[in-house]
Amino acid sequence: MKLRIVTLLLVAVCLSVVSSTALSMELTVYSARNEQLVKPIFDAYTKETGIRIRFLTDNEPALLQRLKAEGERTQADLLITVDAGNLWHAARENVLQAVDSPILRKNIPDHLRDLDGYWFGLSIRARTIVYNTNKVKPEQLGTYQDLAGPQWKNRLLLRTSKKVYNQSLVAMLIAENGREAAGSTVKGWVENLAAPPFSNDTKVMESIAAGLGDVGIVNTYYFGRLIQEKPDLPLALFWANQKEGGVHVNVSGAGVTAHAKNRDEAVRFLEWLSSPAAQGLFADANMEYPVNPEVKPHATVAAWGDFQQNAINLANAGALQADAIKLMDEAGYK
Ligand code: FE
Repeated sequence: MKLRIVTLLLVAVCLSVVSSTALSMELTVYSARNEQLVKPIFDAYTKETGIRIRFLTDNEPALLQRLKAEGERTQADLLITVDAGNLWHAARENVLQAVDSPILRKNIPDHLRDLDGYWFGLSIRARTIVYNTNKVKPEQLGTYQDLAGPQWKNRLLLRTSKKVYNQSLVAMLIAENGREAAGSTVKGWVENLAAPPFSNDTKVMESIAAGLGDVGIVNTYYFGRLIQEKPDLPLALFWANQKEGGVHVNVSGAGVTAHAKNRDEAVRFLEWLSSPAAQGLFADANMEYPVNPEVKPHATVAAWGDFQQNAINLANAGALQADAIKLMDEAGYK
């Protein structure tokens, strides 16, 4: 009798080991990137490894709130989102944990990841100058800072300062040039505006194409989308600051959650995302650039030309975000 109980107990223990192994064959991701961008990547990983990926998509603040509310009970192993400012905040809110992986360190350049390992850039988004080809010659363009000069009076169009992309850009300008210089750049931009700031990058470009303004600052994947749809628009990209530190870049990225149930599996998935095998897939989904320098961008994106990128660590986009918001507010940038 005693033996039977011991046997039953052993069987029960074995079953629970088996079922927890089976459970670890599944990962849960909270993603602020929409389903159409992430699903094909998850499917590719499942196909390669057999590991299933459950995911939940929502906007960034909602996911952050959810992770905080769920605390230790969360099912999420990984948070995927856009903009280093957001990733920095997630780390700051204690919903991510540090990861030390030689593979991630090798595949992702230093400036595109948190040096303490709380988050990692997985694709690069470049925020550069766009111009109306009927009105502006590329020789007239140079830097973000130049767009504050009197030659651009009533010619500049910008997206709202409420968007994290611009908060990060200005934070990086502060990191690069200091508060005072960044402040006069932003003041100059505001003085040069041809119209009040727009709600999104596409409207900025459509308005430039329509002649409302001549130049603007946008993320290149929006340019890619618009030009694919309307190839005849008189628009072109200009790589800003090529002799002055490089184009300001940001990332889409991810971090392992603080209470991940499948931590090791989540790290392996991140490593895979940074690998040559997956980088094309991740970057191409949204016409972005791979973070892994060994991987070339998609032909459509590569056709916009090579550029020097700014190499200041993107953690500054988070650390200086509050300063950037204050500075834009003081400059009257709505
Ligand atoms: Fe975007």
